[in-house]
Amino acid sequence: MERALNEECAVVGIFNHKEASRLSYFSLHAMQHRGQEAAGISSGDGVKIHTIKDRGLVSRVFDEGKLSKLEGHMSIGHTRYSTAGNDSILDAQPVHANYDLGQLSIVHNGNFTNAAEVRNALIKDGAIFQTFMDTENLIHLIARSDKLKLKDRIIDAVGKVEGAYSLVFQSRSKMFAVRDPYGFRPLSLGRVGDGYVVASETCAFDLIGATFMRDVLPGELLIFEKDKAPQSIMLHAEQPKHCIFEHVYFARPDSDVFGQNVYQMRKNMGIELAKAQPVEADMVLPVPDGGIPSAIGYSQASGIPFEMGIMRNHYIGRTFIEPTQEMRDLKVKMKLSPIKSLIEGKRVIVIDDSIVRGTTSRRIIRLLKNAGAAEVHMRISSPPTTDPCYYGVDTPDKENLIAANMSVEDICNFIEADSLAYLDNDALMRSVNSTEDTYCTACFTGNYIL
Ligand code: AMP
Repeated sequence: MERALNEECAVVGIFNHKEASRLSYFSLHAMQHRGQEAAGISSGDGVKIHTIKDRGLVSRVFDEGKLSKLEGHMSIGHTRYSTAGNDSILDAQPVHANYDLGQLSIVHNGNFTNAAEVRNALIKDGAIFQTFMDTENLIHLIARSDKLKLKDRIIDAVGKVEGAYSLVFQSRSKMFAVRDPYGFRPLSLGRVGDGYVVASETCAFDLIGATFMRDVLPGELLIFEKDKAPQSIMLHAEQPKHCIFEHVYFARPDSDVFGQNVYQMRKNMGIELAKAQPVEADMVLPVPDGGIPSAIGYSQASGIPFEMGIMRNHYIGRTFIEPTQEMRDLKVKMKLSPIKSLIEGKRVIVIDDSIVRGTTSRRIIRLLKNAGAAEVHMRISSPPTTDPCYYGVDTPDKENLIAANMSVEDICNFIEADSLAYLDNDALMRSVNSTEDTYCTACFTGNYIL
């Protein structure tokens, strides 16, 4: 069975605003980096839920005609990023269903770790699934709950799932937001006009003119009802385990995630990297865009000039999702190109946020050497990625993670660098000001929480 994970997605919910669907649309636009495979919006007009979703970028899926059909004062939206192979429109979100209490729509960022178990039990019990998404489990759990109110059914259902989830639910007249007990994935609450917004990243708030109020707490359920302030119910909270990879790679630098600005965190990583892994060179180059803030930090801390020596073509998608190695190689070349006259004869330090399979680094180093670089020193602003993520980041299995299978020295040889060094976990934690062990670092340490 093909797994459909709601990895690295973006979710948004707008409550009590006359332009609810348009605000969801703009929010999804701001969070497009969290998923480019599919996009969707559901609106609620008090009587009916309307849903439009399709494959592709937000700007391709929606136009004025479609948005005007999404009537109502509330809406929820989603952009999807998932592993290659799931091209079914059925696996796009919001997931919408009719059930005994009426209509329901759900968007989900994260990944249930007990999804197969719950699904199999539901199937045994007669449930008929339409998609491969773990989110569909929630629909069935809610539909089968014996509680009378949707709020209690949601509490029932999330009590039966485990893993990482930031969820927004919409009935015909109410909206609900829930975050898992560890707060793996981000979810923030803001005020927009007389209404409210919840979104994966605060960069969405900036675009739609919303004011940040606070993060939805790990283990918190928020209920939005007309003419009432949002009601908060604490379900079950654990010691937070926020995803460190949001700060390392995934979130947008202008977002505040888990209470801290992403750009600043990445810059700190570069400063720590310069302190721990110095090397003599003529310039510091970022791998755009991910490596830019940490390369600025590295440059400032080392005194070695920062140069934008590698240009990125912004008009092609991310390289990571291509299924074959051949395609990935080609796409890196299409995407990145060095400035020859700047690099020729120079010793360069190249900064990237992570090495996953090693394809990108190897390709970039070849490009730089072909452009005449005298030495290429690779510096990575996170520890070696040794373990897959089960909580919502799309990392390959262990056999495809280069750091799970090779020493740093062997990786250095494989990517054909003159030297290679990573940031260690303690320095990473210092960079994000974590003193109380509030981050999930399983991808770097193998310390899984669930
Ligand atoms: P690789 O070529 O497999 O080593 O991929 C490393 C590159 O992919 C780096 O430039 C990272 O910025 C980027 N990257 C790391 N993790 C992910 C992810 N989960 N999704 C997409 N890109 C990623």
